[in-house]
Amino acid sequence: MIEFPHVPAGEPLTVSASTYVAYRRCPEQAVGRLRGEYPEDSAVGFVGGLAHRVFARHLQHGPISKDDFAQACREEIGSSMNPKVGSLGLKPSTLQPIIAEVGDLYDRFQKVSLEGCRDVEVSLEFEATEGVVIKGIVDAVFDGEDGGVVLRDWKTGQVGAVADQLAFYGMLWTLVHGEPPESLDAFSVKTGETYVERPTRSALQATVTDVARFVTIARQSFAGVPADTTAGPWCRYCPLLPECSEGRTAVAVTD
Ligand code: SF4
Repeated sequence: MIEFPHVPAGEPLTVSASTYVAYRRCPEQAVGRLRGEYPEDSAVGFVGGLAHRVFARHLQHGPISKDDFAQACREEIGSSMNPKVGSLGLKPSTLQPIIAEVGDLYDRFQKVSLEGCRDVEVSLEFEATEGVVIKGIVDAVFDGEDGGVVLRDWKTGQVGAVADQLAFYGMLWTLVHGEPPESLDAFSVKTGETYVERPTRSALQATVTDVARFVTIARQSFAGVPADTTAGPWCRYCPLLPECSEGRTAVAVTD
């Protein structure tokens, strides 16, 4: 259906959805992620991550009562989010308002129609060529109207510029299953916004070609050829900012 183009041999690497989205903004930032340079954890990201855990728990085990909600949150934090608790310096007293915020998102989530949801937190992984793994986790998979599947990404803020992320999931699903999803959507539990796209074969091929381009750039960078930089609002949270003159200029303009 779609094919991963030839790339030069080199370092083994894994391309995730967040690395691909970073590459679409700034290739050097994405290569930095492959080197282990990640943005710092944020409280907003923690709320979003916990809300996703709660949504998945609801879909896998059923509704969570008000009385059990705080304990359910603590269990989810304990099972996979403790390193972020440490990096953000969160304490039991600072967790309470976070749990309350997630509770508000969960109240909204329970009003969303979940009919046709067939799977949640679906891990996808594909070895594109030797040493190149493409992977991602789809929040939820729904039955489509035409017999296919709909891949959904829950958003806990505004939907924002989500096209690259959804294109990545659509491409990865197609590589793994040999069939494209019927549609891709992002739904904001916070605002009710929805973004829906029906992927075409040419768009899916364009995305896998773009991933191969990134693999080439990354391997060249590991071999000493610097990747391009593209400065923008995202520079403010880039871990490479202190050494990047373009990024510092961009941040100075918007300060
Ligand atoms: S600071 Fe901005 S331009 Fe520089 S590497 Fe990071 S994202 Fe790219």
